[in-house]
Amino acid sequence: MSRNSELFERACKTIPGGVNSPVRAFRSVGGTPRFIKRANGPYVWDEDDAKYIDYVGSWGPAILGHAHPEVIKAVQEAAVNGLSFGAPTEGEILIAEAICERIPSMEKVRLVSSGTEATMSAIRLARGATGRSKIIKFEGCYHGHADSLLVKAGSGMLTFGNPTSSGVPLEFIQHTLVLDFNDLQAVETAFTEYGKEIACVIVEPVAGNMNLVKPKAGFLEGLRKLCSDHGALLIFDEVMTGFRVGPQGVQGLTGVTPDITTLAKVIGGGMPVGAFGGRADVMEHIAPVGAVYQAGTLSGNPVAVAAGLTTLRLLSEPGFYDRLAEQSKKLVQGLTERAGSAGVLFAADSIGGMFGLYFSLEVPTSFEEVSAADVDLFRRFFHEMLERGVYFAPSAFEAGFVSSTHDDEVIQATLDAAEIAFSRLV
Ligand SMILES: *Cc1c(COP(=O)(O)O)cnc(C)c1O
Repeated sequence: MSRNSELFERACKTIPGGVNSPVRAFRSVGGTPRFIKRANGPYVWDEDDAKYIDYVGSWGPAILGHAHPEVIKAVQEAAVNGLSFGAPTEGEILIAEAICERIPSMEKVRLVSSGTEATMSAIRLARGATGRSKIIKFEGCYHGHADSLLVKAGSGMLTFGNPTSSGVPLEFIQHTLVLDFNDLQAVETAFTEYGKEIACVIVEPVAGNMNLVKPKAGFLEGLRKLCSDHGALLIFDEVMTGFRVGPQGVQGLTGVTPDITTLAKVIGGGMPVGAFGGRADVMEHIAPVGAVYQAGTLSGNPVAVAAGLTTLRLLSEPGFYDRLAEQSKKLVQGLTERAGSAGVLFAADSIGGMFGLYFSLEVPTSFEEVSAADVDLFRRFFHEMLERGVYFAPSAFEAGFVSSTHDDEVIQATLDAAEIAFSRLV
């Protein structure tokens, strides 16, 4: 029996489903999850000593590749001075300054320990600042697992949604309106109906939790205008896209400025760090200055902040994002060519260090189109690639991630594996 299988069996005895986050369990692709022993650069090694080129990158944070020597050194140096104090530290100022400097719409920022905390707090802040209750989110966008955000669309466009999780009472989501991503008309209708009651619109400005779906031209601009016209706040959930698609996230690429931004993943460099921030006048509603309560025992943890700060510093090297985007492009173009030669229905897209693979004719623009992809074909492709030492996300509905250590040689090895994998799908 493989050690991965042994460990998984053992894990299932004390950990529900054997994992601490559901997608890790390989449920949607089948098979045994790989237990990772160590990682370096673009590679991870499992407990059976198999080596994989990794395109999960801890679901986004590992933008510098795994175990970057400078990040590891920063963590080691910080740890020697104590792991947590529950009192302010200079490092927290430095990372706040680094974030606000890089993302100008974030005039003030509060640190938390996860993306879920960041979005949950941002929603509370938007409600507190506007004195309104209703929020708009989009089907297929994921904003962490806070109760009011675990919602899918109801039966009609302007009906409020249904919980996507057991344990979330209907009453908790009665203020959450779920609309279609890229459907600006629906948002307009919602504002016409409920304008004065809507506290905020929260959106992944490039959606990365229903595979990768880019905003159509005018969608984000339209959200901005509708929010401004109706006194609602626009929240960009850039937990995934922040410092991933470019130096200023999607807002830097599109020029659309949100009122509140949420971050996590990359800003922790692999350690638990999240953040929400925005207009100073909005952020002043947060305790201890304002009446919106928000707190955290480990918020701004000195070791995590050291990893994040070092990561942000390394990301600001000139040309970093151009190179990253270039490597992602080489990957998706190479995959598309090889799928084409093999006669597999396939499309792919990328933005910065993020990419999407679709077993469909075209790059999707909506949740509906994403959902129509050939999941069974993805499952087979996933396992063909895994067998050949390439680790893609174990789900057809997740984005993939390239790091600065995915050099030409690594991309080429991936494409060589893909050539065989695609040929075996037909
Ligand atoms: C990952 C993610 C979250 C949740 O972050 P966690 O750190 O897993 O709680 C929220 N929003 C988006 C867009 C994400 O990609």
